[in-house]
Amino acid sequence: MKLLNLPIFFSLSFLLIAHTAFSQLNITDYPSYPEYERIMQRFQTNNQSLCRIINIGKTINGRNLLFAKISRNVDTREKEPILMYSSSIHGNETTGYALMLKLIDYLLNNYNQDSLITDLINNTEIWINPLANPDGTYRYDTIISNPSRENLNGYDLNRNFPSPDPVMGNHPDDDPRWEPETQAFMSLAMKYNFTLSVNFHTGSEVVNYPWDYKASLHPDDSWYHYISKQYADTVHKYSSDYMTDLDNGITNGYQWYQIFGGFQDYMNYFAHSRDVTIELSHDFDPPYIDINNYWEYNYRSMLNYIKQTHYGIKGTITDSLTGKPLKAIITVLNHDTLNTDIYSDSINGYYHRMIYKGKYDLLYYCAGYHPKIVRNIIALNNSATTVNVQLSDTSGKVSTSIYNIPQPVYYYSANSREIKYINPQFRKVTVKLYNLLGTELSTIFNSSISEGSYSFRIPDNLPSGIYLCNLMIDGRNYTMKIPVLSQTY
Ligand SMILES: [Zn+2]
Repeated sequence: MKLLNLPIFFSLSFLLIAHTAFSQLNITDYPSYPEYERIMQRFQTNNQSLCRIINIGKTINGRNLLFAKISRNVDTREKEPILMYSSSIHGNETTGYALMLKLIDYLLNNYNQDSLITDLINNTEIWINPLANPDGTYRYDTIISNPSRENLNGYDLNRNFPSPDPVMGNHPDDDPRWEPETQAFMSLAMKYNFTLSVNFHTGSEVVNYPWDYKASLHPDDSWYHYISKQYADTVHKYSSDYMTDLDNGITNGYQWYQIFGGFQDYMNYFAHSRDVTIELSHDFDPPYIDINNYWEYNYRSMLNYIKQTHYGIKGTITDSLTGKPLKAIITVLNHDTLNTDIYSDSINGYYHRMIYKGKYDLLYYCAGYHPKIVRNIIALNNSATTVNVQLSDTSGKVSTSIYNIPQPVYYYSANSREIKYINPQFRKVTVKLYNLLGTELSTIFNSSISEGSYSFRIPDNLPSGIYLCNLMIDGRNYTMKIPVLSQTY
């Protein structure tokens, strides 16, 4: 038996050594900026099949806004939800920066070792940005010394996004433009269908859910309350006297304090996504020796939160004849308000609507196709309901089923800069663009049209910005706020 034991002992210890050797985060302090970039690159170099480092743009100082994208088949857009973690948009709030590096390391090291991690990586596209404002964090040096909340131009980036608020509009702060960091994140959110995201901060210990800008509740308030409480409750199991601010670690954003121009409202309103703000520590930039404690308190909640993207109502939307995947808009009837509806992925038709348990009617619509309503879909918490939908081409006609739709069907596609509209019968339709002050800029369309699907294109020369688009249909007005972006990366 001794002879048999030897090879087993050796192979086990080899595995252990090999596993440990893959950890890329043997650090005892916050890294310098160059070291941070090297750590990120090493994650990719040592995990070629699972990890890509993606640079979404540059700061004023020429630093990089880096994401670690982690997934099985990392170069392929698969039918799976997309999760975004981003930290330290306030450069002096460094807890999340350190925790995101640890999270990337933990995910990569535990693939094929831990069943939860393996499941998350196999079935989620995970995007992690440890440092959203590197010029603030490394304000005066390549090491962290007097980090600043603002970016190099002195702007608070978490007030620099356009606001859904009609009065605050495009630029709720006194900055007449969007900072480069803001533009990079706006473009990213327009390009990918993020299912769920978090932006991490410090200064308090609380999970803050939408809206930040107004008192009325998000249509998915029950769901937000549920996932926020799940995060905090799990933290409480592994800590003492931590993350108990406000309502025992959770709060509605507006009820805490109103802000305009935050990342959270941008993701929820303009990106048709879901986002919460998590405040990780009372210490703004705690000594690195404390980071292990914050990691122990939070990492299970962070993993559970990624797991939440697997629940709700999901499926694929395709052309009934050709099987071609379709980018469609999915509206929960008598539930969604404008901009809380979601889209399916343009590449593979996958959609994912996280929602609190209940029975729902969903409307699926894509320009050029008969809209379809699927009624009485049962959604459960911590479980997924699959509803695949085939839409049939209208060949220019509209089915009578549209008469059952209780509201006009139109939406804006930021990528193609088009307003899509489905017209059920002969009607006079006028489409006009206004700036946020209500000044009319142009008439895009004005004619009586027969039934069918229509696309109205935004003029190419319109500068980047948020605009109001008004559709007047048989004398009734419908207004939506649309982001027009020119920059890509
Ligand atoms: Zn902050």
